[in-house]
Amino acid sequence: MTQGTESQDARTSRAPIRVAVAGASGKMGREIVKAISQAPDMTLVAAIARRHAGEDAGTVAGLAPLGVPIVAQLSEALVQGGIDVLVDVTTPQAAAGHALEALTARVRPVIGTTGLSSHEIQELRHACETRGLGAILAPNFAIGAILMMKFAQEAAKYFENAEILELHHNQKADAPSGTALKTAELMRESRAAFGLDNAPEVEKIPGARGADAPGGIHIHSIRLPGLVAHQEVIFGGLGQTLTLRHDSLSRESFMPGVLVSVRKVMQLDQLVYGLENIL
Ligand code: NAP
Repeated sequence: MTQGTESQDARTSRAPIRVAVAGASGKMGREIVKAISQAPDMTLVAAIARRHAGEDAGTVAGLAPLGVPIVAQLSEALVQGGIDVLVDVTTPQAAAGHALEALTARVRPVIGTTGLSSHEIQELRHACETRGLGAILAPNFAIGAILMMKFAQEAAKYFENAEILELHHNQKADAPSGTALKTAELMRESRAAFGLDNAPEVEKIPGARGADAPGGIHIHSIRLPGLVAHQEVIFGGLGQTLTLRHDSLSRESFMPGVLVSVRKVMQLDQLVYGLENIL
């Protein structure tokens, strides 16, 4: 990881980091507006979401007014200037475009939105490199989830069979989750292929064995009201199983990771994919 040469953009290192939140009216966005407004070293300077445009971001988040009116388009916020970091928690359709727009305006993106394609991730990596600006793409901001992924990567050295079960609330837009995909990717760094000794199988209902991620890791996605964000990685071996499980019981679990990312992105000059790379 390298340090940005213009990380503070001519501002003193003590000046609060000026943060914009895209998706400010959403479940994650409202929590992030609260966390930013309570962080002593950050100031919320802009908020973006279409349906609540014109309303105060604090009021929408259930706080006292913050004097930050929500705007419908990111371009409206960027044209005002004075933004250091854009935190994006919108949709897979909007997030990559937002991040590229932000980088063009020399604003560093912290992307919590999941479901970006590998092509979009590559495009972002390139845009960061050409501009010498940092960005963070974090499929999961919760420290426990990061540890669960690291432990899964370690356990994958010792077990040839593993499956991932991810459970989320029923309003989630993408499946499998970004966390499950990232976990499978980390596990493949330890072992190229899983489940090679499985019997040939016939799925009587298509999808019964879950999604077949590269390397033979099956991912099962459950969507139910009442859930927030949960994942199990189950390893199987001779006469034993090992289950790693993480539960985000509320969206507060993501906030320390969001704040760390906002601070850290100011020092980067490239894309970092996964919070495990900056903790
Ligand atoms: P949500 O409640 O549906 O909120 C989405 C927000 O994005 C809304 O405010 C929505 O408002 C806004 N939005 C959508 N399209 C937009 C656009 N083109 N321009 C501006 N605003 C737009 O969703 P959520 O549960 O908060 O989740 C948001 C994202 O975060 C998802 O991708 C989810 O998977 C991810 N997530 C990540 C983590 C993590 O740790 N990284 C944790 C939880 C969730 P309007 O439609 O009115 O514009």
